[in-house]
Amino acid sequence: MAHEVPPLPYDYAALEPYIDAQTMTLHHDKHHATYVTNLNNALQKYPQLQNKSPEELIRGIKSVPDDIRTAVRNNGGGHVNHSMFWKIMKPKGGGAPTGKIADEIKSAFGSLEDFQKLFNDTGTKQFGSGWVWLVRNSGGKLQVLSTPNQDNPMMDGHYPIMGNDVWEHAYYLKYQNKRADYLAAWWNVVNWDEINKRLQAGK
Ligand code: MN
Repeated sequence: MAHEVPPLPYDYAALEPYIDAQTMTLHHDKHHATYVTNLNNALQKYPQLQNKSPEELIRGIKSVPDDIRTAVRNNGGGHVNHSMFWKIMKPKGGGAPTGKIADEIKSAFGSLEDFQKLFNDTGTKQFGSGWVWLVRNSGGKLQVLSTPNQDNPMMDGHYPIMGNDVWEHAYYLKYQNKRADYLAAWWNVVNWDEINKRLQAGK
């Protein structure tokens, strides 16, 4: 069973004005689709890897055969990262979180504002392409970190609770070089219900 791009759970224009319809169309239909195509191509030689979930492949990246490890890292990572990304956004999202995630953010970072500032700063400072994450780290604590390229925190034993894509393809049409403006605006489309589910699932 080949890997497939999951459908967007809302319309391409649903996250306007914060993320424009053209960016969403290209990002989902072209960029994500290319990661999935390249992942499937990389796995062709290795039927025993074809039944693993994308997350299993990523968690076990160190045991993927040498000749396809980089392809699986980049494209399997891209598939896992984007599959999460579409779901942790929604139209009319944002606001203050409720539930467990609200409590955990407050206890780890002091306040929502302090957490968002750290997350935005970390995303702004990621040199080149990559992602900024809130993870439950391998020691069990909430932590903000960034990764290059399509690397996923699971590759290092952390659980990704939420992440934002800071590749230029995620924001350049609308925000050009102003990544910090994109990071600030993104909080208006965050789906805290889904993030609460991921927090629970990661325990
Ligand atoms: Mn992307």
